[in-house]
Amino acid sequence: MPQFSNELPTSPQRFALPILRTPASKPLDAIITSPDMIVCPTHFVHNRTIPCEGVNDCPHCAEGHSFRFHAYVSCLVLEGLQHCIFEMTKRAAEQFKPYRDIYSTLRACHFIAWRPSKRFNARIVIKCKRHDELEKPIPDPPDIKRILCHLWNVQYKPDTDRLDPDTGGRLHFPAPANGDGRYRPTIHTEPD
Ligand SMILES: [Zn+2]
Repeated sequence: MPQFSNELPTSPQRFALPILRTPASKPLDAIITSPDMIVCPTHFVHNRTIPCEGVNDCPHCAEGHSFRFHAYVSCLVLEGLQHCIFEMTKRAAEQFKPYRDIYSTLRACHFIAWRPSKRFNARIVIKCKRHDELEKPIPDPPDIKRILCHLWNVQYKPDTDRLDPDTGGRLHFPAPANGDGRYRPTIHTEPD
């Protein structure tokens, strides 16, 4: 007798969510599933984003590459209902701060992100409103840090993680005010 079921088998360690950036052509309409953003200094080397692992033992810092802060949230994209990781620059991510200050979480933040000039790399505008999770449930958040480390092909060591779980996943060292000022157009050409 076949083993029929209505449920697909789950794979407990699913590290492969797609990473999205704000498209140039049309707005991104999505609901955040993670309780907070994950912020990480990154380098753009050999045409890809990779994490900066600290000024003292980072080979890319040693080579003189600039770094910039990226922020990541997990979100459910409403067109297609796909669970994704949304990547944004520090400047774009700051637009989520008022929402986080009011609701003390980013989970269930329904946002629209778009580029008013419709140009690749152009400035991003983000508008937020509250999604009613009781009326329409959203998925549990994935482990963003594990997914990023998997994508970046670097080891994830939870015990040396700088995030304090007691603070709800906030980063201990904040993005510096001049983060975007470190941008080096000659090396760093990835989209905003
Ligand atoms: Zn570095």
